[in-house]
Amino acid sequence: MVFENQINELDSIMFCFFGLTLKELEDVIAGTGKEKYRARQLYRWVYNKGIYDFSMMDNIPKSLRVLFSDMFDMETINLFESIASVDGSIKLSFHTKDGNIIESVLIPEKQRLTLCVSSQIGCRMACSFCVTGKIGFIRNLETHEIVEQIIGAKKFLNGSPESPWEKITNIVFMGMGEPLDNFENVMRAIEIMKEPLGLDFSKRRITVSTVGLLGGLKRLQPGTAGIAISLNAADEQKRTEIMPINRMYPIRDIMDFARHYKGSQRERITFEYVLLKGFNDSLEDAKMLYELLKGVRCKINLIPFNESPYSQFKTPDNKTVDQFHAYLIDKYMTAIVRNSRGPDVNAACGQLGMAYLVSKKTKAS
Ligand code: SF4
Repeated sequence: MVFENQINELDSIMFCFFGLTLKELEDVIAGTGKEKYRARQLYRWVYNKGIYDFSMMDNIPKSLRVLFSDMFDMETINLFESIASVDGSIKLSFHTKDGNIIESVLIPEKQRLTLCVSSQIGCRMACSFCVTGKIGFIRNLETHEIVEQIIGAKKFLNGSPESPWEKITNIVFMGMGEPLDNFENVMRAIEIMKEPLGLDFSKRRITVSTVGLLGGLKRLQPGTAGIAISLNAADEQKRTEIMPINRMYPIRDIMDFARHYKGSQRERITFEYVLLKGFNDSLEDAKMLYELLKGVRCKINLIPFNESPYSQFKTPDNKTVDQFHAYLIDKYMTAIVRNSRGPDVNAACGQLGMAYLVSKKTKAS
């Protein structure tokens, strides 16, 4: 196993700290002949107290602090840009060591500060309304690159004294990529996020948003995190038109999963529905959506599309959105209109990764 090999070759290998679960960190430290409990000390310093410099960890002997600073890489992605939207959300852009770009978005709401994280660079799902889908798949993010988006955002907030926010309250996997297509790394990242000695997010504050990869959904144990399924059409043909994955995982199979999902009483699957002008926003579409979801314990997020130069779709007008919403409410469905945040800085739903398309265009011209 790679991990065991790494432990046996400690002299030459650096570990990415943010890619290690607490148990793995214990094993790595035990592999050096040092006490396992040092792992818990490190977790508290780093995740709870936000201290990333080993020399400041004063309950750890100096010789060990030197050893740990040689052993652990504490920064594998580097925040190079933050752009604030007029609506208060902030897009954070990170460089990876291999020269790629990861984007995350801080989204302040009344009572919470959500960080939307990416799980891949690009995406292979090719949803036709999404900029990230147009990039194609570049690679999966490693566990540490997912967790470090949170650490980077925390550092950013700490360095912004004017920010009213002290902490990130919620995490959503709705950035670049399909999280269940990078299952192992996303699950390990969630384990690290939920570790009480670490970032200590409760499962209710983490949401995994997926196009409905049923293999991954079935592997996802109830109670791991909230589930959001990006539905976007209630009709198989229409969904296939905008989401090619529907050929492999059609609506009928997704609904079969949703009807049999054994989450706790409080857990409800969220269905996301991006409203595309003239395509899926009519009252007839609302009716089909109701027929599909009635009797399923769920919430519906209606998201008016954000236009981009890379998509032919348009934003529906407010009246159409209101009518669609009102129809579902009249049928006693739990439906919320979620205006996507940060469209002016290309941080809204489906807009991440624009930098890749701009650079492709520039190179081509
Ligand atoms: S909507 Fe999500 S799954 Fe679809 S292409 Fe975009 S990032 Fe990928």
